[in-house]
Amino acid sequence: MEKEKTSAVVLAAGNGSRMHSKVKKQYMEVNGKPLIFYALQKFQESFIEEIVLVVSKGDIEYCQKEIVEKYNFSKAKKIVEGGKERYDSVRNGLHALSSDTRYVMIHDGARPFITEDILERALNGARENKACVVGMPVKDTIKIIDENKFAIETPNRSLLWLVQTPQTFEYKLILDLYDQLEEKSEELKKKGINITDDAMVVETLSDVRVKLIEGSYNNIKITTPEDIRTAEDIIRTML
Ligand code: C5P
Repeated sequence: MEKEKTSAVVLAAGNGSRMHSKVKKQYMEVNGKPLIFYALQKFQESFIEEIVLVVSKGDIEYCQKEIVEKYNFSKAKKIVEGGKERYDSVRNGLHALSSDTRYVMIHDGARPFITEDILERALNGARENKACVVGMPVKDTIKIIDENKFAIETPNRSLLWLVQTPQTFEYKLILDLYDQLEEKSEELKKKGINITDDAMVVETLSDVRVKLIEGSYNNIKITTPEDIRTAEDIIRTML
């Protein structure tokens, strides 16, 4: 079989304001290592061939020395600057990948608990469907509310999934759609469409159908201080 180069864009250019901490959340210590270490380690040990790390402009040098060199993440070939919105960071990351990339996994650096199994399922999903995101069925009932917090609709729970990352795509497809998004983002904003993940770019700008496959309930995104404690508990159970 032709060798299909799979790469990863790891996002760490958010300001993490919901953490209310001095140190940015992606560099906060979780069990003695910076949060961003965990996702990078998983990709480094996997079949992924190349990693582009996306960080804030002022953090590039720090990440090169204190993350990439310190922990020998040899696959992290480039560290690039992020943008104002998550989708700006993704676009910068996609453009920094080698052009021979066949599939790309876009991953939130704030999700430390990906596993080799999840990565394999995600890649197979993208091979079969061009676009594949990992997630899990919701356990709680979800309500759509109005601006005054009154319930207006209760969608059928059996059709609702929480969406996680990695989100995996044919590289050329997603690169092209992110370029189109750059031109259309103002128009979409005016229509009230707020792009919050990569699948949405595919859903909004193409006919390709995004397949959902199982991630894990441990694949949490670290957002608030309580999440750091949960993460340390998860690490303890994994040791
Ligand atoms: O803000 P949110 O938690 O959805 O961010 C998800 C991921 O995207 C985080 O890893 C964050 O660092 C990254 N991000 C980014 N650039 C932005 C906003 C978020 O790289 N402008």
